[in-house]
Amino acid sequence: MRLLEITPVFVETIPQKLEDGKLYISKEFGIVAHSCACGCGGRCIMDLKPYWKDGWTLTEHGNNVVSLSPSVGNWSGENPYHAHYFIKNNKIDWL
Ligand SMILES: [Zn+2]
Repeated sequence: MRLLEITPVFVETIPQKLEDGKLYISKEFGIVAHSCACGCGGRCIMDLKPYWKDGWTLTEHGNNVVSLSPSVGNWSGENPYHAHYFIKNNKIDWL
């Protein structure tokens, strides 16, 4: 089932098991991870700028609300490219 929102969880290291609907953010390692919002269970790991120059930018709006840019595409798991969305203000905007 496609998720429509996601809750940021600030962690030091990304846990092995990613719960659906949670966006794990490790500022220590400059990584954001979540379970693909389509519900397939694929791990989606993103590197943040400036750790990776072509990485994503995480914007914190306060009150535990975040946005990521650019959009997220998920190729992971057994499926080829199959999910594409923006994460904006904790909402998942499907493309
Ligand atoms: Zn998926």
